[in-house]
Amino acid sequence: MIRIPKGCKDMLPAEAHIWQAIEDEARTAAELYGFKEIRTPVFEHTELFLRGVGDTTDIVNKEMYTFLDKGGRSITLRPEGTAGVARAFVENGLQGGTLPFKAYYLISAFRYERPQAGRLREFHQFGAELYGAASPSADAEAILLAARFLNGLGLGDDVTLHLNSIGCKQCRARYSEALRDYFRPHIGEMCEDCRARFEKNPLRILDCKNDACRKYTADAPSMLDYLCDDCRAHFETLKELLTAAGVKFVVDPRIVRGLDYYSRTVFEFTTDLIGAQSTVLGGGRYDGLLEQMDAKPTPAVGFAAGIERLILALQALDAPFADRVPDIYIAGMDAQSRRRGLLLAEELRGRGYVVVCDLMERSLKAQFKYADKLYASFVITIGESELEEGAAEVRNMFGSTSERVKFEDIAQYIKNYRRN
Ligand code: ATP
Ligand code: MG
Repeated sequence: MIRIPKGCKDMLPAEAHIWQAIEDEARTAAELYGFKEIRTPVFEHTELFLRGVGDTTDIVNKEMYTFLDKGGRSITLRPEGTAGVARAFVENGLQGGTLPFKAYYLISAFRYERPQAGRLREFHQFGAELYGAASPSADAEAILLAARFLNGLGLGDDVTLHLNSIGCKQCRARYSEALRDYFRPHIGEMCEDCRARFEKNPLRILDCKNDACRKYTADAPSMLDYLCDDCRAHFETLKELLTAAGVKFVVDPRIVRGLDYYSRTVFEFTTDLIGAQSTVLGGGRYDGLLEQMDAKPTPAVGFAAGIERLILALQALDAPFADRVPDIYIAGMDAQSRRRGLLLAEELRGRGYVVVCDLMERSLKAQFKYADKLYASFVITIGESELEEGAAEVRNMFGSTSERVKFEDIAQYIKNYRRN
């Protein structure tokens, strides 16, 4: 048998309720803030990510799934959601529409990475994007939405919000020079990636996961000492808003985020529950993104959360998820009673009950065992005598009562039983 590609995972029906609970929480939280869903293609022109993600990032340098299509175009499976949303925002003329533009997405994303716990080649994200607002209250809203989502999942006590400002182009230029001065004596002992980052974008060195490099990044100068007055005021207001709203955070000057388009606010929610890949959600402000894509500059802020990492965290907590089990199992004994069972099942489904019938033509004993396994609340048995009487045997599997009920009264009987 051919196996699944490396770094991919099947979501099996038995786990569906966990995924759906997270997706429901994401939709509910996003819509409370007035965000609407957006869906963009799974693949885009490679150029979009080269421009939109940036060519000093790990994503563009080594992680993209890029191929030529039959028409000879270079196509890339989306490694993240922001660039596609930005393209759709501009291409559909929404930049000139009513602002702010607020959209959320639930997507799969693709990165050619070394697979490990919490790091896959196909993974899933919940993300939100807000275009048009430059104010710190927009940053606050994105973070509040992220926090509400994580709280709603029950992870509120197990995540830490790390907050930083990486300033604007002007203050970052001064900071980059300071970083180069700081790293210059050590750069020979640092990894190859960091040596390239040293030239192109020394901030990215702070994001290096290599132990040898981390030894030096710990004492590096802090961006916060280089912020210009406007960037500092923006950061102060954001912190004040979050504090007033009761959101706890730690200022962490080492958070720089993996993508080139960030400016000012950057943040990550991390958890101790899942080992090394501890960032479950990351985001920030990217006022420079649209300009980098040759569109009219428009301020923007957003985030993306990794669903697989959230699932790992929830599993570590042993978080309970409500799974919908059958309300009713209908057992049949022969062709006639199974036929009656199928019609009864249809009637009960029409009333909103989850009903499962015997499709395997098992013995009655095996059917009860199966119904037990499914956690069905009721088993309705139909046999020859029941057909003659026009009534079925309705057994409650938890109360262990069993009663003969006329076919036409079964729906009402179950409804009343539940109510009592
Ligand atoms: P990391 O530093 O862990 O590689 P990143 O900075 O590359 O993360 P982002 O591009 O910010 O990640 O993506 C947002 C979120 O998506 C991450 O915080 C993480 O939860 C999740 N994520 C990113 N890459 C992967 C992956 N390969 N597998 C699973 N989840 C991922
Ligand atoms: Mg990464």
